[in-house]
Amino acid sequence: MKLLQNKVTLITGAGRGIGRVIAEQFAQDGAIVYINDLQEGDMPAWASDCAERNVTKVVPICFDVTDSAALKAGLMSIYKAEGRIDVVVNNAAIIANQKLGMVTKPLLEKMYSVNVFAVIDMIQIVSRLMARTGGGSIVNIASITGVVGSPGQVAYSSTKGAVIAITKSAAKELSPQQIRVNAVAPGIIKTERFEELYEASGDKIDQRISRIALGRLGTPQDVANAVSFLASDRASYISGHILGVDGCASI
Ligand code: NAP
Repeated sequence: MKLLQNKVTLITGAGRGIGRVIAEQFAQDGAIVYINDLQEGDMPAWASDCAERNVTKVVPICFDVTDSAALKAGLMSIYKAEGRIDVVVNNAAIIANQKLGMVTKPLLEKMYSVNVFAVIDMIQIVSRLMARTGGGSIVNIASITGVVGSPGQVAYSSTKGAVIAITKSAAKELSPQQIRVNAVAPGIIKTERFEELYEASGDKIDQRISRIALGRLGTPQDVANAVSFLASDRASYISGHILGVDGCASI
């Protein structure tokens, strides 16, 4: 039996980057995969290609995670179609670098609405549905910056620190309903977004890599492997855990 055989799963912000590779991994692991992003055009072409790729079922579901009514309607449509939701991955986020002096209130509000408030909203709504069917697994995508901090990332790292605290508290609160809540805290992962930010910052990549003990940047697949494990029943006694996927880095 595959790791996520017939699990009903939803991954937010899965049109590109890490979320997209998590969705691919879930499909390979036998899950029914609902992939969320902002717009239909963001969805990977393979979402309509399931039979050819020998995966169970992949369904695009577009909504803005900050739109509470749309988020609720999206979850209810999955629940009605499948009768349950087993796994949610809170991956959607806004990633931006700003020196402390450049951080503005509108930027903070925008970042917190996607990276923090939408995560709480999602956990509130989906936990009620998971409780009806005996439990589930929620995996939040945090960041190493939320653990150790990073210059130029006061806003972003603070949202990820909040995700870590949300994970620990929600895990404690939802354990009686058999809902596990964990997070992964990736280091530097080579995605398009990282490359855009890195190019804009003018940092030297070799210096960054020299601070990673395993001597390389992470890949979206490294993150997807960890998320798939935490989502699965193999992690059935693990909750409230923050799993670093960072090559033993100190950034
Ligand atoms: P990404 O390529 O920017 O992917 C984020 C996805 O979320 C995008 O498809 C984005 O859509 C979508 N999104 C943004 N706002 C949304 C909203 N309101 N509703 C629905 N979807 C929304 O970033 P990534 O590098 O793959 O990062 C994925 C996750 O890993 C994030 O939580 C990030 O904080 C975390 N992480 C990344 C790194 C790294 O080095 N890359 C390191 C640590 C943690 P648009 O493209 O249309 O904006």
